[in-house]
Amino acid sequence: MNMSEKCKQHVDSCRFCWMCHHICPIGNATGHERSTARARALGISLVNRGAIELDEIMDNIYECCTCGACVHDCTTGWDPVMFTKEVRLQAALEGKLPDYINKLVDNCIEYGNAYGKTELCDDLTAAIKAHADKTDLLLYLGVDARYMVCKQAVKAIKVLEKAGVSFTVLQNEPASGAQLDFLIGAANETKEQMAANAKILDGYKTVIVYDPNDAKAIRRTYKEYGVETSANVITYTAYLAKLIDDDKLKAQNGGKTVVFQDPYQLSRDLEETEEARKVISAFAELHEMLLNRGETVWAGNILMAEYLPDVIAEVSARRLFNVTSIGESAIVTASVSEYAALKNVKQDKVEVLSIEDLILG
Ligand code: SF4
Ligand code: SF4
Repeated sequence: MNMSEKCKQHVDSCRFCWMCHHICPIGNATGHERSTARARALGISLVNRGAIELDEIMDNIYECCTCGACVHDCTTGWDPVMFTKEVRLQAALEGKLPDYINKLVDNCIEYGNAYGKTELCDDLTAAIKAHADKTDLLLYLGVDARYMVCKQAVKAIKVLEKAGVSFTVLQNEPASGAQLDFLIGAANETKEQMAANAKILDGYKTVIVYDPNDAKAIRRTYKEYGVETSANVITYTAYLAKLIDDDKLKAQNGGKTVVFQDPYQLSRDLEETEEARKVISAFAELHEMLLNRGETVWAGNILMAEYLPDVIAEVSARRLFNVTSIGESAIVTASVSEYAALKNVKQDKVEVLSIEDLILG
């Protein structure tokens, strides 16, 4: 496998020290040693040394959700997300992607979303139509909200309407490239999708990004890949916090006690933790998860559920158990994908709410 020297160094410098072992949400869900960062590094190292074939570790390479908990906790400063993404890229270049990943990649390229969807739900189509006129402000919804959780996309629009904001939503919104980046890393197809999206965003003064996964891609990964946009890109939660500061979104605390599920894209990648808390505290009494902010534990997503549904259900169930284990009964999400994953768990002990649910009541 053709791997960069930097990645080889990270792979071989893993001390297999176990310090990141207990914090991997996938490893904890499967109970398998092989799911953790240290085991993945060992597998990649064996491929680099010619002891095993790349095909033998590909399922393992796609078990990682790239949440970065191990990067955050790595005592020696190594980056398992970086080398995992590079192996995905190399496997794509060498034609060694598993079939279930190829299908998702093909859908991203052909339809702009990994699910191969082409239609929006009627409610969302109508909500978008009401904001078709061009303004300086774009609400960028993202593929998970548009195609998989359209009720939440409608609510995201309604919250801004409630605050009297004038904004645009695109009927044909381009993909951010975040899904392709997860699937095949810094491939040309990923960069091309990102550049095409950046061109559209350039037509707006400010872009509010609803999904933290897209926000991470646009604000951080685009720069890493040399893709530029002139728009002022702000996360949905940061924009809502600003609306509260400006007294456009009126606080209305119903006294419900909730905890917040920090999306790792906001808390670890963008280092944005207090904006969502400001919004939630305006509408409820906010308590904290034991592992919060930069220490957050990923609660699952929609994309990985396409090929690892049972593992993702267990990841989400474990995060809900974290809620009950501290005596809490309601969790608020800021990631539409985590919201869908948590909602998917059959249980009646924890109420799962989005920030929009909380605001709209
Ligand atoms: S990035 Fe997350 S899922 Fe991947 S190995 Fe690290 S902790 Fe586990
Ligand atoms: S903490 Fe760092 S060095 Fe230790 S096993 Fe995890 S990735 Fe390797």
